[in-house]
Amino acid sequence: MGKCMIIGCGGVASVAIHKCCQNSEVFEGIMIASRTKSKCDALKEKLQPTTKTVIETAQVNADNVDELVALIESYKPDVVLNLALPYQDLTIMDACLATKTHYVDTANYEPLDTAKFEYKWQWAYRERFEKAGITALLGSGFDPGVTGVFSAYAMKHEFDEINYIDILDCNGGDHGYPFATNFNPEINIREVSAKGSYIEDGKWIETEPMEIKRVYNFKGVGEKDMYLLHHEELESLALNIKGIKRIRFFMTFGQSYLTHLKCLENVGMTSIEPIMYEGREIVPLQFLKAVLPDPASLGPRTVGKTNIGCIFRGKKDGKDKNYYLYNICDHQECYKEVGSQAISYTTGVPAMIGAMMIMTGKWNKAGVYNIEEFDPDPFMDALNKWGLPWEEDFDPTLVD
Ligand code: NDP
Repeated sequence: MGKCMIIGCGGVASVAIHKCCQNSEVFEGIMIASRTKSKCDALKEKLQPTTKTVIETAQVNADNVDELVALIESYKPDVVLNLALPYQDLTIMDACLATKTHYVDTANYEPLDTAKFEYKWQWAYRERFEKAGITALLGSGFDPGVTGVFSAYAMKHEFDEINYIDILDCNGGDHGYPFATNFNPEINIREVSAKGSYIEDGKWIETEPMEIKRVYNFKGVGEKDMYLLHHEELESLALNIKGIKRIRFFMTFGQSYLTHLKCLENVGMTSIEPIMYEGREIVPLQFLKAVLPDPASLGPRTVGKTNIGCIFRGKKDGKDKNYYLYNICDHQECYKEVGSQAISYTTGVPAMIGAMMIMTGKWNKAGVYNIEEFDPDPFMDALNKWGLPWEEDFDPTLVD
């Protein structure tokens, strides 16, 4: 069917690459291009004997548009799948525009010097992508990603209007370390140490970090404390889903994680302000990343399950209706299949599916779109087929 260039070769990319190689009919060729080429080569060496997908590798600095353009021009992929970091979103989008190549990512652009999660920078590319006749699919991970597909599916098949959405992200996994993050520590800590917020009646309501706590009993996991966080898909879903009055995002955290995080915050280790250390400028959070366990190393030691989904409340045929769509994923099963824990798995699988939707032409419109703006049905089928089956509950326990 076609060729995909994957940028980045970390935890999420590794899963997406495994999945592309299982799906050689669509992914006839992939190029893994990242900062550290040896990681790309190691993955190629492991996977090439197992797949018909032809794997190529390259070194690239994705902060440099000219380098990206040259690489895209030489490989000529149908789509570029950005699995580097949110800081690279705009340079990669620029390179896609210059080469008229479709673009997919899993996280919205963030400037390096402010932990601010908004779509405005990427939405500003709408007209240019439309004119170039290419698609940018934003947020094709799990959250954002599957949560948006779930919302579009609920809207299409279950509701006339959706008034309330609660996105619940539960990780019941245990890696045995007192403190580690399940994906890139810098991005993860920036996200959880930021103020919380949610949207009510069209307005953002801000909370202190971790100010709002609820307890929820998750199927497959059990009872967990969860906390309201700001999350990027709230911004797009509030605009794209009809009738929204309130939308919130909750994530589970254990006490040990929170105690360590508080302590690290209190001593200044989570700061993104550069400081001078022995004559050299360092960013405390980047230094912390260097001493924490690499998320990729958590795979073999993480046991338990994740349960991520959305509870919808709204109206169908004039009557009130509640509906919960979720996926349960087992850390060890993921490890056995692709050598990664469930957090990378639940992000890498939808990333592959997003690229597949564009390559197969199932999703085909020029411009910059969030994932809920496309027909959810082929993506929902693909989730069942590619390792993230979903479950429905028509009488869920609600979050107050
Ligand atoms: P990792 O840190 O494990 O991987 C990032 C990769 O990008 C690394 O291979 C890194 O190279 C590479 N990279 C970083 N900067 C550059 C650059 N300038 N040029 C080229 N390559 C670069 O991160 P994760 O895999 O955990 O996360 C990847 C993305 O997925 C992030 O954007 C994250 O926010 C997103 N994500 C989305 C989720 C969702 O549900 N939507 C959930 C989890 C993550 P090197 O190997 O040299 O370090």
